[in-house]
Amino acid sequence: MVSTDRAIKLAVIGRGMIGSAAARHLAKMGQDVALIGPGEPADYAPHDGVFGSHYDEGRITRSFDPEPFWVEMNRASISRYGEIAAESGVAFYREVGALHVGSSDDPNVASVGTITAEAGIICEAYEDAELAERFPFLKSTAGMRGYFEPRNAGYISPRRLVQAQTIAAERAGARIIDEPALGISENGSSVTIRTRSGGVEAERVLVAAGGHTQSLIGQSLGFTVYGRTVAMFRLDAGEVQRLAAMPSMRCIGPEGDNPYILPPIPYPDGHAWLKLGGDPVDLPLESEAGIKDWFKSGGSIAVADRLEKQILDRIRDLKFEERRVVPCMTTFGDNGLPRIGPLSPRVSVAFGCYGKSAKCSDELGRLGGMALLGEVRAELAP
Ligand SMILES: Cc1cc2nc3c(=O)[nH]c(=O)nc-3n(C[C@H](O)[C@H](O)[C@H](O)COP(=O)(O)OP(=O)(O)OC[C@H]3O[C@@H](n4cnc5c(N)ncnc54)[C@H](O)[C@@H]3O)c2cc1C
Repeated sequence: MVSTDRAIKLAVIGRGMIGSAAARHLAKMGQDVALIGPGEPADYAPHDGVFGSHYDEGRITRSFDPEPFWVEMNRASISRYGEIAAESGVAFYREVGALHVGSSDDPNVASVGTITAEAGIICEAYEDAELAERFPFLKSTAGMRGYFEPRNAGYISPRRLVQAQTIAAERAGARIIDEPALGISENGSSVTIRTRSGGVEAERVLVAAGGHTQSLIGQSLGFTVYGRTVAMFRLDAGEVQRLAAMPSMRCIGPEGDNPYILPPIPYPDGHAWLKLGGDPVDLPLESEAGIKDWFKSGGSIAVADRLEKQILDRIRDLKFEERRVVPCMTTFGDNGLPRIGPLSPRVSVAFGCYGKSAKCSDELGRLGGMALLGEVRAELAP
């Protein structure tokens, strides 16, 4: 990775899921582009810089979403997973399928069947005893229905996808600047991006800085940043083998609990961990200091206790060796859509997490790159 003082045409700020995708697409279009942003902090507690939502090995991917816009984003992105892996040499996707499961009389469960049928998403339906037979690790199946997407679904490693996009962008000609942007300012003919090692001048800039986007641009786009807690459970070899055929899972209910569960995934520490998220507590992070304090805090033990109960209620006879509590952040806006488009002739944004933008980050990044080139989808404009 290199730093540069030379003027560049396009800069993308944020080497996360959407920014790294935008840089790959722009570089492949032959654009002069730099991707600016730091990697994952080695240790959260002493880290005084920015944080991201991609510091993990598991994010659910699937075509289904209740909203057609997100189905379109998911499909477009999933169709390019192979291309990104081939361009980078980095594997990041496992097609283990995705199961949506809940009470048979819950309309949110039934709607998965309706929407997948209408959208032409391959989906298998199971109920009661059939559900138990197909997914024997489920603790309770009486009165339950499951919709299973066997294709174009499973999980991605967000860390490895960011790495893959960055390598592919660099191979296509993008310059990588491994530093945070400390501030951006527009003048008549360019944008100056301030970094620790000096300034970068660009003709146009795309800000894709996740939860830090609004503070970096110095204005609210109607999004709230929330702290989220994830619980991880370390499994021994026997449990990993028993759960080997487990897909990614989205649990719908009961009683307002909607956890999602990732199957056992190997982590860099050499162990396999099962992850449960779906933290029901909304903890707004209202400032940069609030975001940093949240990551440094290590997450909420009370939420992790609740998530532990939820996983024991859903996975039959689960035995785990150790529990880990992990903090993360999400952003939610007022209309359910990401914001992708210009704030001024020289500065555009691309962000909007909703807890579901990892799987479709490649298409969101492509739209961010197109917005920087002047092509904006009206419904996403800030
Ligand atoms: C607990 C949790 C579980 C999730 N599960 C799923 C899931 O199962 N499926 C799914 O599809 N999605 C999931 N998501 C959502 C997904 O991870 C996010 O939507 C996605 O990471 C958002 O991408 P982004 O590029 O907008 O932000 P990020 O991935 O956070 O990237 C932002 C980047 O900007 C950088 N940055 C910030 N400030 C600056 C600055 N000043 N200068 C330079 N760089 C800066 C950061 O370092 C970071 O790399 C989950 C999110 C969380 C928190």
